Amino acid sequence: MTLLPDRHALLGPSGAHMWLACPPSARLGEQYPDTESDYTREGTLAHRLAELRLREQWEGRDITEQLQEVQASPFYNNAMAEHVADYVDFIAERMAEAKTRCPDPQLYIETEVHYEDYVPDGFGTSDACIIADGIMDVIDLKFGAGVPVEAKDNPQMRLYGLGQYLELSWAYRIDTVRMTIFQPRLGRISSSSIQAKELLDWAENELKPVAALAWAGGGEFHPGEDQCRWCKAAAVCRARAEYQLELAKYDFADPATMSWEDVGKVLARISDLTKWAEQVQAYAQSAAITHGQIIPGWKLVQGRSNRKYADEPAIAAALRKAGYKAGEIYKPKALLGLTAMEKLVGAKKLNQLAGQYIIKPEGAPALVPESDKRPAIHTAAQAAEDFKEDLT
Ligand code: SF4
Repeated sequence: MTLLPDRHALLGPSGAHMWLACPPSARLGEQYPDTESDYTREGTLAHRLAELRLREQWEGRDITEQLQEVQASPFYNNAMAEHVADYVDFIAERMAEAKTRCPDPQLYIETEVHYEDYVPDGFGTSDACIIADGIMDVIDLKFGAGVPVEAKDNPQMRLYGLGQYLELSWAYRIDTVRMTIFQPRLGRISSSSIQAKELLDWAENELKPVAALAWAGGGEFHPGEDQCRWCKAAAVCRARAEYQLELAKYDFADPATMSWEDVGKVLARISDLTKWAEQVQAYAQSAAITHGQIIPGWKLVQGRSNRKYADEPAIAAALRKAGYKAGEIYKPKALLGLTAMEKLVGAKKLNQLAGQYIIKPEGAPALVPESDKRPAIHTAAQAAEDFKEDLT
């Protein structure tokens, strides 16, 4: 079973946040291969499972054989099945809601949508779309457990919406396009609506000119954290390197020591700088190891390694023979970690069976940007200060 789609559009929806912000990124990135990680394989499998479950429920398909293939994958687990079931339930809720507006809402599952009227060779695959009485619901499953993604002003969602509109508006009245991102592993749903007319205006006046530039490999490089993060040229892009190094050259007013304001500004840069540095390092290392690339001033050496047992039973036998007891040389049995246990049992089932024994201790204090949604906490030192102030 192929787990990745066979073909990708150069100006596809998933990279739209990148090529719309930085048009030359599409052609520059074209020179570098797509890389598959375990995360992308897992996400692709979850989408496949979601498609099968939806087709089973709404089209009455027999999915036995395909389901077995999915379940045979090393990336399949009970937690994935539960998260996909949540998504399938969500689609059912949206269908029920649509039925309150019209008796026969239509559900489109995993459809290839085209928007070549606005973007050269523009196409993508939309996870789910429901049409009912003037409202078109475009729903995207995001299986990642990392960053929450907003539907509002999201160019990927707009392209799915545009593609679906162009496919279906000849047959249905569509006044409003509601775009929803469903992130089951974060327990998060983000929705945003746009009038169809506004979507078409955006496509004509903003999308189309930038897409033409991107297709031609023109336009200005515009580095930034969001667009560079997934760019295939991120490790070698000169514009990004200059941007990172320029920002790293922070101009301190006082040459002797940094003020706390200076420290705050440096902290704000560390995450992006570190990511960039790691990408450059990984790119250089891979080029040197895989392709024998010589990098001036650098060489390949044997890395450090940790000692490990070559034959555990033989070591145990030797130690037992020397008089050591099993209880001394073996660890006591340990439970699987929580993530592995959730994968084994399923998050909901684990919660039903043993939720009362699972706690979430207070996290250690962490310094984060002010924009972070978590409330500020007071440290012991600050509490002592507050106490002193109360006494004066
Ligand atoms: S790394 Fe950033 S600046 Fe460079 S091409 Fe990619 S998106 Fe544009």
